[in-house]
Amino acid sequence: MADTWLPIATIPKTGITLSYSANDSYIWNEKIQETALECSFIKPIEAEISLQLEEEGILVSGSFSAQITLPCSSCLEPALLDVGHIFYDLVEVSEDSLLQEGTYLKETKKGIEIDVAEIVFEEFLMDASISVRCKEDCLGLCPYCGVNKNNESCSCDQNKKDPRLAKLHGLVLEKKP
Ligand SMILES: [Zn+2]
Ligand SMILES: [Zn+2]
Repeated sequence: MADTWLPIATIPKTGITLSYSANDSYIWNEKIQETALECSFIKPIEAEISLQLEEEGILVSGSFSAQITLPCSSCLEPALLDVGHIFYDLVEVSEDSLLQEGTYLKETKKGIEIDVAEIVFEEFLMDASISVRCKEDCLGLCPYCGVNKNNESCSCDQNKKDPRLAKLHGLVLEKKP
């Protein structure tokens, strides 16, 4: 596994620009496995990220794009989604920020290191944590029998009984001699 951590001492005064291509898709696949996200990559994340040392911390700017599938919120079939945006952030470097959980920094023998891939991944998660539909007019699942109404039809709609009343209907029928 490639190291996605960059020692900040190696960032030149003029800044550094790193890029991620399709060859790095294993990084994102590993990270996806750590989340509960049911996401598959059609086109892996391609990203460009620039780091610039400033007095207050590390100025991070970049952009990414990817194409993924997420389960349709209506029928649960895979729905295609293009994700990507430009981002801009200041990662504070201080004793406090090193101790905090969930920061992009750690201290090693090489000094303070920054997890560049994690920054890109967090930006990706923002886009991928939305609810999507496979198509605008998705018919969804039948609330009575559960079939995917895009592919199959069922007869539940014809006798539109409220499932909460179904039992009651049954009781009335049973009472008949
Ligand atoms: Zn759907
Ligand atoms: Zn049905």
